[in-house]
Amino acid sequence: QSKADGRGTYRVFHNEMNTRLQERRAIEADLRAALQLRQFELYYQPIVNIASKQIVAFEALLRWNHPQKGVVSPATFIPVAEETGLIVPIGDWVLQQACRDAASWSHHIKVAVNLSPVQFKCGSLEMSVTRALAGASLHGSRLELEITESILLQDEEITRGILNKLRVLGVQIAIDDFGTGYSALSYLRNFPLDKIKIDQSFVQDLNQSASAAAIVKAISELGKALDMTIVAEGVETAEQLTILGDQRCTEAQGYYIARPQPAGKLMQMLNDLSAVA
Ligand code: C2E
Ligand code: MG
Ligand code: MG
Ligand code: MG
Repeated sequence: QSKADGRGTYRVFHNEMNTRLQERRAIEADLRAALQLRQFELYYQPIVNIASKQIVAFEALLRWNHPQKGVVSPATFIPVAEETGLIVPIGDWVLQQACRDAASWSHHIKVAVNLSPVQFKCGSLEMSVTRALAGASLHGSRLELEITESILLQDEEITRGILNKLRVLGVQIAIDDFGTGYSALSYLRNFPLDKIKIDQSFVQDLNQSASAAAIVKAISELGKALDMTIVAEGVETAEQLTILGDQRCTEAQGYYIARPQPAGKLMQMLNDLSAVA
């Protein structure tokens, strides 16, 4: 009896693995064709200065318009793109498109682009960024690159070298999802960073949790002392935005301010937000 159960369990597990593997393979095959078929699109979410309420940047968020599945979330396809190396050409497209879009905005608004650790490892990141800026005639100071902790966990010398070269172009570096993972304070000392993005999990706990508020305040003060800008991600309520302002956080981003929108809708968004301010 127990033997049969064991085999049955194994078979169910095995089938599940197969299904997941097949799903991944299907995504992979579709992903290979997606660039050619122009199925990718950038959505943009504004980042506002809390004190002035002005839009300071738009973060580019990648969307995949799949012909059968509809809009596929980056959480689903970015891991597959990273494992297959497809994130390198996809990431190049993102950089180029984001710079082209930003070139049409008013000059004080920056564009923020997310980078994968795989783009760092492939050795051609600086060239990709240089080309994207040149192709759009965009000055480096209009581009902000968002990196995650996993990039800082790679070879320290090499990473610091790449970040320094990017900064020579005028590009600013932000650390995304700060406060999750290890978030060692040594990062802030060992790497050239301009901006800290406080992870949305802290922001969403602000109303109920005194410790979340204390952490936001501490990061804000640390940022100020280190001459870094502090951005709060995932702001969903007016109350959260007020608390963030009180904690001297510099910038905010989240559904309360605006959801990510296709590039064609940004003019409308700028009008709506200036009406609110
Ligand atoms: P992220 O860079 O931390 O981006 C913030 C995510 O939070 C976005 O999810 C955004 O839509 C979502 N968000 C914004 N405001 C709120 C809010 O108020 N509440 C909640 N619950 N969520 C909010 P999205 O667009 O699904 O992207 C997920 C992640 O995928 C991004 O996290 C980023 O790590 C990655 N990603 C997106 N685009 C790219 C890309 O072009 N390249 C790379 N390598 N990664 C990307
Ligand atoms: Mg980001
Ligand atoms: Mg984030
Ligand atoms: Mg995130």
